[in-house]
Amino acid sequence: MKYLLNTRQLLSTIKFLLMMLLFAIQSNAQTFDSPKPLTERVTPTPANAIKIFEEAEMHPYEHLLTQEERQAVVQAFELLPPLHQRILKEHLEGISFLDSMPNTALTSTIESGDSVKRFHISFRAGILKQTISQWLTEKEATCFTENNGDYKAHYNAGSMNAIVYVLLHETTHIVDGSLDIFHHSDGGFAKTFTGGVWKDRVSLETTDSLLSKNHFRRGKLYPYTLATSVYNRLQQTPFVSLYSTSSWSEDLAECLTVYHLTRRLKQPFQLFVSKKGKTIFSYEPVKNKRVFARMKALEQFYAAG
Ligand SMILES: [Zn+2]
Repeated sequence: MKYLLNTRQLLSTIKFLLMMLLFAIQSNAQTFDSPKPLTERVTPTPANAIKIFEEAEMHPYEHLLTQEERQAVVQAFELLPPLHQRILKEHLEGISFLDSMPNTALTSTIESGDSVKRFHISFRAGILKQTISQWLTEKEATCFTENNGDYKAHYNAGSMNAIVYVLLHETTHIVDGSLDIFHHSDGGFAKTFTGGVWKDRVSLETTDSLLSKNHFRRGKLYPYTLATSVYNRLQQTPFVSLYSTSSWSEDLAECLTVYHLTRRLKQPFQLFVSKKGKTIFSYEPVKNKRVFARMKALEQFYAAG
């Protein structure tokens, strides 16, 4: 009969089906039962992330980690809060490192066949050669017009590898996105965190003409002569950094990163403005009462871990 198989075909079909079953079990085990350790998730950058750069006429390329760099990445993962580690096991598809990347990091969503949100983070490989203090100082300089040599704004945030700070910041976006933290901003943690500060995701409740028009909010670059005025205004707010003013998601990522860095990893986080080598302003956000009050609310992230 047409549908009858001979013994050889039957054995071959059974073998094929068994192989498919084994493959399915292995795939399932890889994804859900024993997911790859976080530090083994270095993959090529997904096409949708590369496309974002290509469209902006930028052409970053894959960076192969040296042994030393890989070690820095492993350590940064180990230092993440328990909640981050738990969420990442399920939601972090991969990370990659790029050379010639214009920004520090890009967290992109990955299309998945199921309902689980999955993310990929691409990092500029150059940050692996910087300390947190160096990287923060470099980032802050992007808010100011070219220095005339007299003024300088710089951070003392310790000598850990910059990847510790950047991984904390980016993975907080994944925690935020996976738990949909700001979905109900009219109650719970989101209300406590955004109340009196944010009208919506990007609109501030109080618009200070100087502070709310910084480079991270698409404002113009400040001349360095305004540095102390800008940071004096920042001291009146619950933001830990100028970058926090970009959106409530960035605000959370910055606040949690600085909380973890200072309270849990016992690192400093101080900003200085100097003129001709002499300090004319200093600020330690974690000593600001308004920042402190918000950081108390962050402790529930650790209870949930
Ligand atoms: Zn961010």
